[in-house]
Amino acid sequence: MKHIITTIDAPEQALKVNIDGAVQGVGFRPFVYRLATKYTLRGYVCNTTGGVELWLEGEGKKAMVDELISHLPEHSRIDKVDIKGVTAEGYKEFRILTSSNLESGVPIMLPDLAPCSECLKEMTEPNNRRYLYPFINCTHCGPRYSIIENMPYDRPYTAMKGFEMCEECRREYEDEKDRRFHAQPIACPKCGPQLQLRDKDGQEITPPHLWEEVTARLKAGQIIGMLGVGGFQLLVDATQEEAVKRLRQRKGRDARPFAVMVPNISYGEKLGKLNKQERKLLLSYAAPIVLAERHPQTELAPAVCQFSRFVGLMLPSSPLHALLMKAWGKSLVVTSGNISGEPLCVSFEEAKKKLRGIADVFLTHNRPVLRPVDDSVVRVCAGKEMVLRRARGYAPLPVWHTGENTADILAYGAELKNTLCLSKNGVVIMSQHLGDMISSETVKHAQKTCQLLEETLNFSPELQVYDIHPDQTLKNIKHQTNPQVPSLYVQHHEAHVWACVAEHQVALPALGVAWDGVGYGDDGSIWGGEFFYLPENGKAKRIARIKPFRLIGGDRAAKHPARCALSLVLQCQKDCPEIEARLNNELGAERKAIEIMAKNGINSPWCSSMGRLFDAVAFLCGFRGEQGCEGHAAMYLEGLVQAKNDEREEAYKWHLTEGEIIEADWSEVLMGIERDVQNKVPVSHIARKFHESLVDLVRMLIQKAGLTRVALGGGCFQNAFLLEGLEQMTQHIGCELHVPEQIPCNDGGISFGQVVAANRYWQK
Ligand code: ZN
Ligand code: ZN
Ligand code: FE
Repeated sequence: MKHIITTIDAPEQALKVNIDGAVQGVGFRPFVYRLATKYTLRGYVCNTTGGVELWLEGEGKKAMVDELISHLPEHSRIDKVDIKGVTAEGYKEFRILTSSNLESGVPIMLPDLAPCSECLKEMTEPNNRRYLYPFINCTHCGPRYSIIENMPYDRPYTAMKGFEMCEECRREYEDEKDRRFHAQPIACPKCGPQLQLRDKDGQEITPPHLWEEVTARLKAGQIIGMLGVGGFQLLVDATQEEAVKRLRQRKGRDARPFAVMVPNISYGEKLGKLNKQERKLLLSYAAPIVLAERHPQTELAPAVCQFSRFVGLMLPSSPLHALLMKAWGKSLVVTSGNISGEPLCVSFEEAKKKLRGIADVFLTHNRPVLRPVDDSVVRVCAGKEMVLRRARGYAPLPVWHTGENTADILAYGAELKNTLCLSKNGVVIMSQHLGDMISSETVKHAQKTCQLLEETLNFSPELQVYDIHPDQTLKNIKHQTNPQVPSLYVQHHEAHVWACVAEHQVALPALGVAWDGVGYGDDGSIWGGEFFYLPENGKAKRIARIKPFRLIGGDRAAKHPARCALSLVLQCQKDCPEIEARLNNELGAERKAIEIMAKNGINSPWCSSMGRLFDAVAFLCGFRGEQGCEGHAAMYLEGLVQAKNDEREEAYKWHLTEGEIIEADWSEVLMGIERDVQNKVPVSHIARKFHESLVDLVRMLIQKAGLTRVALGGGCFQNAFLLEGLEQMTQHIGCELHVPEQIPCNDGGISFGQVVAANRYWQK
């Protein structure tokens, strides 16, 4: 996010500085205090609703502000700085004011922060009173969002309200020079939360050495249900194939890879290739899962990463995890403690009921989790840090400040990978990742999250925004809301591209390119390979799509890439004997029936989905059988493209046909692949040429539309090779390319795009 600095020149005897952003609960005020003392300034610092206010009198005030902005304390983030020259009041000293004049701002809730280096160090000092204490924290680190009951962020409004501070903790808490000054979750073994090891029936187990017991159980292949920061997690030894398989099978989990926690960065480097950006992300206070290219030969059991070229790595995200990893010393599968398709379990009572068939033993504690938060997922793609799942460590930091007085909007997001967005006074807060709105439990979880956010932010919407999909589950959410509040419906792919436009403040007009699996189009068909003209004012206009083909068997087609390939062959009505042979092999006797369905249009809706086109090409490049999980075939295809310094291949040809809107015809792409298969061209080249052809397609549309800026959106852009190709191409033709980074490019970003679209589309 950009800093906005406005300076108003006036008699500069004093400076009044207002800073908005993530500056509360991170030790910002003590930091300012120390800095002001260094410059012998007088005045104050206090919290406001949206940030902090500084009053500075004395010689070095400008230098002090410069130093503050250029050397921010760990974990803080500035969104906006407002500096005013004012008449001096004649303060005698510099003070931290605890009460503040709460204006009509938006309270900023901080995300949960991984332990800082000082706390980690104290935890290993035998003489420290918090030696080996799993709930150590300070003003710079520790739980935040997951323990907040209400705002302002103050101990009585957190999950810590039931723990009375001991004398020593209180002394630290009240001393403005202490590094635990106003650390709301402050605790120690004497007064704070405690760990418990429990069996499935809730009986407490009290071994002589807790961590020895835990690691012995892991070594024996047991699955441990542990209450982490944002809810329960399931842990299993990542080096034992049988144990990992047991977890997969008990959880009913599809082929999706499991994330792996490692004790430290250098251990992570043994498992995956890490560049500077990836290391930085792993070490960041958000401590997300970072998808890194996996080394082929490691200690990891094959069942951890399955088919994936990537390994999802994570460092300890709390002192509890740090103690666990110190005792364990190698890689550990860490996955969310839920039944597949349901939200995380957050209480032991819940875990005992739902996870008893999965976990062999529970490691739990008595600090309640008030807001369930999953681990976040980030991937560095073509040099961009793309947040793919925005949860612990990120949510609910504001994702956007419009800087304008816009309507207060509540946006409900997409059906899958759902998030919610609340926009108040132009500040947009995005909820944590909430999951797929296909089980009633997840819908309830979304409703509850929404209600909590509304209460905490003292928010009531003037406008509600929905996807245009007439889906029942989304209606369920709707029933909760006020029928008096007007509703607006925004098309899925428009939301995708508007999200990117807003994130990067892209100057308009621009070309929006939205490529994903499926989204409901405003003509009732399934979209997913769409191009938009994004005007300076008003609505997006769809100008092109890829030529539609049938999804034979509906959802079955998304599962089985051969069906997509067959659909293309039937549609283009040209001879492709090589592809036919492969299809017959794969589909066997089923083929006839599938073909009849397609020809008669039975359960075979039209789609223009780029995701399904990827699936079809993956099949043509050797992918067989059903997809083990979402994105499986596309990842396979991306994985085939190797060695980036190869000669550029001649790309397959797209044809643009004019009509009401432009149709990008893939027939020649298909025929090109047929020829290459005949000529025994290696599949890695075919995959590469397909990617190149997509870059070409975007170039053709840029030139056709006569635009010089492009904004991307949709899950297909989680593809490093495609992004690199687009970067090179746009640079070459002198065009700006914008890629979603902080806002998920997948459906997790839809709620934000809906807010942006609503701001443009809606008039009171
Ligand atoms: Zn700390
Ligand atoms: Zn204490
Ligand atoms: Fe989408």
